[in-house]
Amino acid sequence: MVVVLEKNVSDSQLENVISRLEGFGFSVHKSTGDEQIVLGAIGVRPEFDIRKVKILDGVADVFRITEPFKLAGRSYKKEDTVLKIKDVEIGGNEVIVMAGPCSVESEQQIFKIAEIVSKAGTKILRGGAFKPRTSPYSFQGLGEEGLKLMRRAADENNLLMITEVLEINHIPLVEKYTDIFQVGARNMQNFSLLREIGKASKPVMLKRGLAATIDDLLMSAEYILVNGNEQVMLCERGIRTFETNTRNTFDLSAIPVIHKRSHLPVVADPSHATGMRDKVLPMARAAVAAGCDALMIEVHHDPENALSDGPQALLPDDFTVLMKQVKAIAEVIGRKIA
Ligand code: PEP
Ligand code: MN
Repeated sequence: MVVVLEKNVSDSQLENVISRLEGFGFSVHKSTGDEQIVLGAIGVRPEFDIRKVKILDGVADVFRITEPFKLAGRSYKKEDTVLKIKDVEIGGNEVIVMAGPCSVESEQQIFKIAEIVSKAGTKILRGGAFKPRTSPYSFQGLGEEGLKLMRRAADENNLLMITEVLEINHIPLVEKYTDIFQVGARNMQNFSLLREIGKASKPVMLKRGLAATIDDLLMSAEYILVNGNEQVMLCERGIRTFETNTRNTFDLSAIPVIHKRSHLPVVADPSHATGMRDKVLPMARAAVAAGCDALMIEVHHDPENALSDGPQALLPDDFTVLMKQVKAIAEVIGRKIA
């Protein structure tokens, strides 16, 4: 149920509405928009008479949410969610670029790549310290050492950082270093991880699973939101189809579809979506044209020797070209890339 409050609602009216809703047995989520405050009351029973809430002082309107995702949906929150992470905003007019290697491999590697992507105009450094690998024999990441190196490389290059959290046990450790948690495609439906990330206090980028529908993705976001963490963005990173010319099939239309159904920012990852260096630039251009709020791009100065995902990593010069071209595309649709 959505409870829309009057524009001039007083603090005491607001407190009263919240405590009455809790008294009726609902869990209450508050969203403060530019115009008015909206409360999401989760746990409405079909027989509950919503007039009990309509008559409370300070309440302008009450309606039931019919979509399965209550907090992630547009009916709960009409305005776009803008994540404010230090001095970076995701979901506003600026399209943010996150870039870096697939994995943190060494001090020299992460510092070099951080400098390259920062000089090219990136705001956020990406890189994995805990890697979800298809094979147990592949490089699994440097662990805490990787987090430490990445934090230093980000700070020294005036970047924020995003890194993947693979397991519940790692949440406190990763939270100590990162600005944004990444939940990877393989963990999109790890509901116990999602619940615990929902209790954490840092923003989360949730990647779409390899075989997940858009509704599945939104339902997974719901697990994070309902546990209290409202700083969530969704990432389209390609899905498995019968096509074999690319590593995955980039579902470009997921971008406008999610924007219509949800207020959460949408990130596009053409690196994992295509799996091939020469496909990343055209699909990054397409993603910006389709309205993504951020791009995630893998970059490596020596992809031949990369310990993971070398074939899809852009070389530094290619990345500079990408930045130039996506800037131009952003302008066409009235957005910007700084
Ligand atoms: C990654 O970002 O390096 C990664 C492992 O992504 P995904 O979970 O989308 O495969
Ligand atoms: Mn990767």
